[in-house]
Amino acid sequence: MPELPEVETTRQGLLPLVGQTVDKIVIRHPTLRWPVPQGLPAVLPGQQLRELSRRAKYILARFDTGTLILHLGMSGRICLLQHDEPAQKHDHFDIHFRDGRLLRLRDPRRFGAVLWVEGDVNRHPLLRNLGPEPLSDAFDGTSLYRAIQGRTAPIKNVIMDSTVVVGVGNIYASEALFRAGIHPKTSASKLSRQRCERLVQEIKATLQDALKAGGSSLRDFFGADGNPGYFQQQYFVYGRTGKPCRHCGSPIKSMRLGQRSTFYCPRCQR
Ligand SMILES: [Zn+2]
Repeated sequence: MPELPEVETTRQGLLPLVGQTVDKIVIRHPTLRWPVPQGLPAVLPGQQLRELSRRAKYILARFDTGTLILHLGMSGRICLLQHDEPAQKHDHFDIHFRDGRLLRLRDPRRFGAVLWVEGDVNRHPLLRNLGPEPLSDAFDGTSLYRAIQGRTAPIKNVIMDSTVVVGVGNIYASEALFRAGIHPKTSASKLSRQRCERLVQEIKATLQDALKAGGSSLRDFFGADGNPGYFQQQYFVYGRTGKPCRHCGSPIKSMRLGQRSTFYCPRCQR
């Protein structure tokens, strides 16, 4: 599943399209997670792409009269291609630009989204209740410490709650907790202020490392080949059940938490 670093890298890779004018829209499969707005082929041509930003895992493409919200869902990717690139089976949505380039959404499982919002996009129901961006100054030890007060749920579930902080998916939650030495099942409200500070630092560092890895694989990520393009990284714990901890050598354990597989080192994480 594309996580925040893949989405941010996708956004950066699409930046050359800012300032370009839409030529035409092609909708091949109108039903993604929600129906793709049928009016787009009439509305978007002639409009200029003004800005490409990101909120959580949503890419926000602002045009003259509104904003397109793009989401990659479980299996989606967005490719930047030349206009004559033949569409493949799972290529559901294209924006052709007048300069001959093409933004294409490929999504085999169709949990992705293409939505159109006129007015303030941040008030859209998908965006308005979101917590701070993990790499912003608004997410710090103080904000996390405040968010955990009275919450007895495992800390891993709390940092994956998008009202607390956005974009900390299963991989990065597991990795950041290992790096902070915190057992994923620890009751959130039991974390000291100091451990909150440390956890925030490690969440930021984990995401930043992934962004760096993403930058170096940008070409693959945008290629037109069948490669899913998600970043391959060396994880400390994620997906490493039974393998030796990279710090202490103990076998990495796994368990289900909040219906997600969770990986941890029983010796390094308390
Ligand atoms: Zn260990």
